[in-house]
Amino acid sequence: MRFSDLNLSTPLLNALDDLGFTIPTPIQEQAFNPVASGKDIVGIAQTGTGKTFAYMLPILRHMQFSKQDNPRVLVLVPTRELVIQVVEEIEKLSKYINTRVLGVYGGTNINTQKQAVGEGLDILVSTPGRLYDLAMSRVLQLKSIQKLVIDEVDVMLDLGFRHQLINIFDILPKQRQNILFSATMTHDVDALLNDFFKAPKRISIAVSGTPVDHINQTRYNVPNFYTKVNLITHLLEDSEIFNKVLIFVAYKRMADRLFENLDKIFPNEIGVIHSNKTQNYRFQSIEAFESGEYRILIATDIMARGLDIDHITHVINFDTPEFPENYMHRIGRTGRAERQGASILFSSDKEQESLGQIEALMKMNIPLLEFPSFVEVSSELIEEERPELKEHYNPLKHKEEDSPGPAFHEKKSKNSKENQGGKYRREVAKKYKKPKTRGDKNFNRRHKRK
Ligand code: AMP
Repeated sequence: MRFSDLNLSTPLLNALDDLGFTIPTPIQEQAFNPVASGKDIVGIAQTGTGKTFAYMLPILRHMQFSKQDNPRVLVLVPTRELVIQVVEEIEKLSKYINTRVLGVYGGTNINTQKQAVGEGLDILVSTPGRLYDLAMSRVLQLKSIQKLVIDEVDVMLDLGFRHQLINIFDILPKQRQNILFSATMTHDVDALLNDFFKAPKRISIAVSGTPVDHINQTRYNVPNFYTKVNLITHLLEDSEIFNKVLIFVAYKRMADRLFENLDKIFPNEIGVIHSNKTQNYRFQSIEAFESGEYRILIATDIMARGLDIDHITHVINFDTPEFPENYMHRIGRTGRAERQGASILFSSDKEQESLGQIEALMKMNIPLLEFPSFVEVSSELIEEERPELKEHYNPLKHKEEDSPGPAFHEKKSKNSKENQGGKYRREVAKKYKKPKTRGDKNFNRRHKRK
C-alpha cells in the first residue's frame, strides 16, 4: 500500500512527496477510511507511529475551501510542546492548500492569541484550558466545529483535564465527528469513552500477541498490597540478579505508596515517575536510573511510555494490567537488543480475570511460581482493598484523579516554600537528626549536591 493508493488529492500527495513519504504507516492505512467516513473513532497508537497524519490526512482531504473565519476543526492536546509539534505537522501537509492553522496554549499572552483568532482560521490546535478561556471571552466562536480531535487522551486524563474536557464538550456543537487518539488504554480513558461517546469504532495496530522469545515470563499469586511489598522486597534484596529493575503500577497513588515503602528498605536506590511529579524531577529520576545510580524505577503505564532505556534486567508488574495490551507494552521494556530479559507478574484474587485476558491475548500461560514460604503474608489492607462503603451521592465531591496535576513548569521561587511539617515532626527530626518520613529525600539530596 502506497499513499497514491489512498483517496488523496494531488496537493496532499505532492506535499507528502516533498517530505519523501511514500508508504503510509499501519495506523495511517487503517485510520484513513474510518476517519474519512465521518464516524466517531478511537485510535490506539503511540507517538512515533505517524498518528498525527493518520487523523490529519483524511480531515484535510475532505475539507472544503471556506471564507468563513470560525474554525471548523478543533484539535485538543495536553501540552504546549504537542501544540507546536501538531501545528508543524499540519503545516507540512497543507503546503499546497489554503488551510489556516493556529496553535494556542496557556502560559502566554492571551491577547496576542485573541488577535490571531480574530484574523480567521480553519483548524485550531490548543490545550484545553486556553481553549476554554478563549471561548469564554467570545473572541473564539466554536459553533462551526465539525470535527473534534483529542490527541493523547490518556495523558490528558492523567494530568487531570477531565473536567476541562467535559466543559468543552458542553460548548461544542452536538453534531460533530469525534476522533480520539490514545497511546494506552486506561480505566479513565475507558470511562470517558463510555460516558461521552456513542460506541466509537476502535482502531489499533494489533499489538503482537506473541512476546519475544528472550523474555522469561513468570508470575506469582499474591493476595494484597503489603504482601506484594514483602515479596518484592525479598526479590530486590538480590541486587546482583535484580540489577536494573522497572516496576510498573497502574496509577499515581500506588506509585507513591510503593515508593514510600521500598525507599525505607532500599534508600537511595529507587526513583519514581508519574504525572504529579514535576518534569524536572521525572527527568532526573530517569537519568539516575539510566546511569545506574538508581537500581530501581517505579513508573505508571502512561509515564513509562516514552522511556527508551536499554539493559533493563527485570520488569516487575506490581499489579496486573486491566487492559492486556498494557502488559505487552510493559514487558517489551526488557529483553531488548537481543539480550535476555525477565518479567514477573503479581496477581491478587481480584486480578485473576485480567490475568486470563493477558494469557488469552498471548495464547500462552505464564508459568506460576510458588510463593516463598519464608515471605510474610500480610493481612493488613490498604484503602482500595477494603470492602467499599456506600456513600450518599455527593455531586460536589470530586474523584482524586479528576483533580488537576501540577503544571509542567517548576514553581516560582516565591511560591516554592516547603511545608516544614508540624511541631511534632520538627521535634522528631531534631531528636533523631533526620526527618521521620523520607518523602522526596532523594530529590532534595540530588539538588543539594549541585
Ligand atoms: P507522530 O506519530 O505523528 O508523532 O509522527 C512521527 C514522525 O513520523 C513525524 O516526524 C512524521 O513526520 C513522521 N511520519 C509520519 N508519517 C510518515 C510516513 N508515512 N512515512 C515516514 N515518516 C512519517
